[in-house]
Amino acid sequence: MSGRKPVDGLYELADGVFDFVIEGVIQLNAGIVVGDEAVAVIDTGTTEDDARALLEAVRSVTDLPVRYVINTHHHGDHSFGNWWFLPAVVLGHARCRLRLVGSEGFTHRETMAAHLPMAREQIRAVPLAPPDVTFDGHLDLHLGKNSMRLAYLGRAHTDNDIAIGIDDSGVAFAGDLVESAGPPIVNDGYPAEWGPTLRKLGAAMVQMFVPGHGNVVDGMFVAEQAGAFEELTRVCAQAQTPAEAMHAMPRSVFEVLDFQTAAAVKRYFETVTRPS
Ligand SMILES: [Zn+2]
Repeated sequence: MSGRKPVDGLYELADGVFDFVIEGVIQLNAGIVVGDEAVAVIDTGTTEDDARALLEAVRSVTDLPVRYVINTHHHGDHSFGNWWFLPAVVLGHARCRLRLVGSEGFTHRETMAAHLPMAREQIRAVPLAPPDVTFDGHLDLHLGKNSMRLAYLGRAHTDNDIAIGIDDSGVAFAGDLVESAGPPIVNDGYPAEWGPTLRKLGAAMVQMFVPGHGNVVDGMFVAEQAGAFEELTRVCAQAQTPAEAMHAMPRSVFEVLDFQTAAAVKRYFETVTRPS
């Protein structure tokens, strides 16, 4: 590593395990995991600029090739930079691929471009590179040092969130299963399933959870987000309408879900089949 100059925003969480904060149109935690002979990156940013910044961060710590790209879920702020790492193998949940191919991928890119007018043309120019190796349950990636398990724990922020636990490092990359820059974003989410999914994540023997956005958090933080979704679910299950649920919602839920609370209630009623 002599002579190398780490770039700004790069944090070594464990030996060869880095969080790189991409300061793009959307600030994102990308992961860089250095194995014995190859590197895996976790999420790639929204634009070519983001991907190139991540590549530069990789080059500031190692000359090993980036052989794997892992997407924590399909959202464009996590996957649109994939193409710039090819011919790396892109890994993700089977439904992550489905959401990024064909007309669904095209629509998602258009939606992201519409939401981010300052980067609209850059986003429209992104060649989509969906995962080409997919799985439903879990997948072990053997890198020698810093081997890892990619695990689907249930629906939550989307229907294809995975978490990545790095062997013996005490670090797990959680994607948007956990957010600390703001409340969890629920528009594609499953509020009634999010709590149980987070309980499984929190059961991992991990000291540092890297959220999709924001500072690294601990197990207490994960448990608090789980608790908020569980409480919201309990209140919604007893209510007849979203308005009734909002009226009965305790303060503790608003403290965690903040301005996403109403959207989470709405999504609950859209995604849960209730006895009539
Ligand atoms: Zn997301």
